[in-house]
Amino acid sequence: MRILIVAETNGSQLSEKTLPAIAFAQQVAPNDFHILAIGHSLQGIETLTGYGAQTVWTADDPRLAKPTAEAYAPVIAHLARTLGATLIAGTTTTFSRDLLARVAGLMDAPMLSDIISLTSQNGKWLAKRPIYSANLIGTFEVEGNPVVLTVRGPAWGKPEPKGNSSPVQSAELPSDIPTRTEWLSLQGGGGGRPDLTQARVVVSGGRPLRDPETFEKYIGGLADALGGAVGATRAAVDAGIAPNELQVGQTGKTVAPELYIAVAVSGSVQHLAGMKDSKVIVAINIDPEAPIFQVADYGLVADLYEVVPPLIEALKQR
Ligand SMILES: Cc1cc2nc3c(=O)[nH]c(=O)nc-3n(C[C@H](O)[C@H](O)[C@H](O)COP(=O)(O)OP(=O)(O)OC[C@H]3O[C@@H](n4cnc5c(N)ncnc54)[C@H](O)[C@@H]3O)c2cc1C
Repeated sequence: MRILIVAETNGSQLSEKTLPAIAFAQQVAPNDFHILAIGHSLQGIETLTGYGAQTVWTADDPRLAKPTAEAYAPVIAHLARTLGATLIAGTTTTFSRDLLARVAGLMDAPMLSDIISLTSQNGKWLAKRPIYSANLIGTFEVEGNPVVLTVRGPAWGKPEPKGNSSPVQSAELPSDIPTRTEWLSLQGGGGGRPDLTQARVVVSGGRPLRDPETFEKYIGGLADALGGAVGATRAAVDAGIAPNELQVGQTGKTVAPELYIAVAVSGSVQHLAGMKDSKVIVAINIDPEAPIFQVADYGLVADLYEVVPPLIEALKQR
């Protein structure tokens, strides 16, 4: 068995979001996994070489300066064929979901997303993944060579550092790298705050935050006082209160920070699907019957407008 891990990049810099995928590879094929980073003028390759990969491959080319699935997918498929990779995997993120689905299409390979475990039995793979808003765990049998996977970050954690340093090699590029898709701009990006899916602390706000200014003042203010990231419910996003990329939940991002503070968040199953793996959950809600209190470790029944400002002030005084 040989695994090819696709490292997440923004075209030049590597993202820590790759780490759970490397942890997955260490557990499933500790002696035979490779990592591929794609982009142009790639920086920080050495951050990938300390985890025991057979080889860290780089595909560095001006046509790969922007991370479009159309350009990156043939590069991955080409290296996967050359290496004879049996599994191709990345962490479940917007980047991987977009990119690896296209790789699976190009290679006519089956794909499973967001897996939390993988075993093999009689030449077939058995993978578990959350289903129905993470209320059930489904077991899926998949047969194929290769199989394409995304792995659920919180389930695999961080890879173990290995003493040795993996060799870095340039990957051969396919003859054709399509450039029909043009990268125009990147919106959002957290405004200097930590990445939502990587942050140690996440403060999320719901629909009662009224408008973007109020949301930023209370939710952004509390997040900044804690050095955390900002999240939002879909209701807040749909109401134009928070940007789409902050949405946590079934149709948003999955997070598992050490501390998750839910402010005026009802606790719908769809929202819980994206945050219930958080280590400590704190809920501030005016309604003592709100479902969020069923998953909260600490709950405060209160009006956010009364309790959040003094909380921010107290945190700033620390
Ligand atoms: C297919 C599908 C996918 C979905 N995906 C997602 C998803 O990914 N993420 C997601 O979040 N939702 C998702 N939803 C929507 C979800 O069902 C809920 O509608 C949404 O999560 C509710 O958001 P909310 O808690 O902000 O709003 P509300 O349900 O309106 O709850 C607001 C809460 O704030 C409390 N509150 C009101 N005023 C105050 C105050 N002054 N101080 C303190 N508390 C106050 C209320 O008591 C209430 O509990 C999805 C729905 C569907 C159908």
